[in-house]
Amino acid sequence: MYAQGPSRFLLAEYERALWVMPEASVLIVENDTAKVEADLAEGRLSCPSCRGVLAAWSFARRRFVRAETGPLELRPRRGRCRGCAKTHVLLPDAVVCRRVDAVAVIGRALVAAAKGTGWRRVAVLVGRPFSTVRGWLRRARSRAGELAVHFLAWAHRLDPNLGPARPGGSALADAIEAIGAAARAASLRIRPLPTWSWASVLSGGALLSNTSSPSKPS
Ligand SMILES: [Zn+2]
Repeated sequence: MYAQGPSRFLLAEYERALWVMPEASVLIVENDTAKVEADLAEGRLSCPSCRGVLAAWSFARRRFVRAETGPLELRPRRGRCRGCAKTHVLLPDAVVCRRVDAVAVIGRALVAAAKGTGWRRVAVLVGRPFSTVRGWLRRARSRAGELAVHFLAWAHRLDPNLGPARPGGSALADAIEAIGAAARAASLRIRPLPTWSWASVLSGGALLSNTSSPSKPS
């Protein structure tokens, strides 16, 4: 996965992004089934618990995610560690843990809210229920400071020449700015991916997690 990094150092940095929610045993992987299979077959995926090599191990349950363009069917791979024998669900970077909507949809809502759009209008904008969108925004605002710090740390790690962050006018706006900076830096240094795919990867799928804080870059 993302194996085309320019240096061993960056790959090591990237590996640390592949963070697991301990209670969920999730690893975020590229949204490319064939690539995930090849990575598993060639031993390129690391166990989030012990850094051992993951081998293919059946599939997680089939599920549908609400993507921007309609339902997206997922049947995530499971990997089993050759070292500690734990199994992990390999979630594609189009999603985050425990959300039925694709991360791109959630991201669009967060960006609109950060620009001052009220939650009802945001819900209409992204075509999702009021209660769902209000839940995303509450969660994102409650941990906006933590997200800003986390993603800014990643941004500076990936781009040491990055200038200081520009204040965005609100904690949520600062978090969105930091996510964008980290995603731009990661796309340049590791591989091009959509901003919100990087948001999922660099938070280990825990962008809007209730129970866990995302991993730090070092
Ligand atoms: Zn292991």
